[in-house]
Amino acid sequence: MEIQFTAVLDSGEKASLRDCEWVFYEPCGCPRGVMSAVILGQPMLDEDTAFREFFDDGYKRTTLAMVKRERKRGVTAELMTTERYRAEISPAMRVGLHKDGVCPRSVETLVPKGDLL
Ligand SMILES: [Zn+2]
Repeated sequence: MEIQFTAVLDSGEKASLRDCEWVFYEPCGCPRGVMSAVILGQPMLDEDTAFREFFDDGYKRTTLAMVKRERKRGVTAELMTTERYRAEISPAMRVGLHKDGVCPRSVETLVPKGDLL
């Protein structure tokens, strides 16, 4: 029998952990990535666990070093329902993710608006 986990979200709403995602954000607020809150039957119950899974490279030492570095840099994680992820985060991820540390929103401001004469 499978154990069901209930997540209490920041919004106060309750949801089955199976219907939740961990969303990771860059320090500027851009979504960086998303991960199921249950992976192969393993619940990602807290932020520490989620960070370790998200940055897992197969080696405990380098994974922990990466987690420490990224958190220090200001990367954050938030647990939310899959429904909210699809409505709010997924469209923002389609705009573009950070490439080589460049924020797609800052790039956008450099693109000239309107007609060039
Ligand atoms: Zn950004």
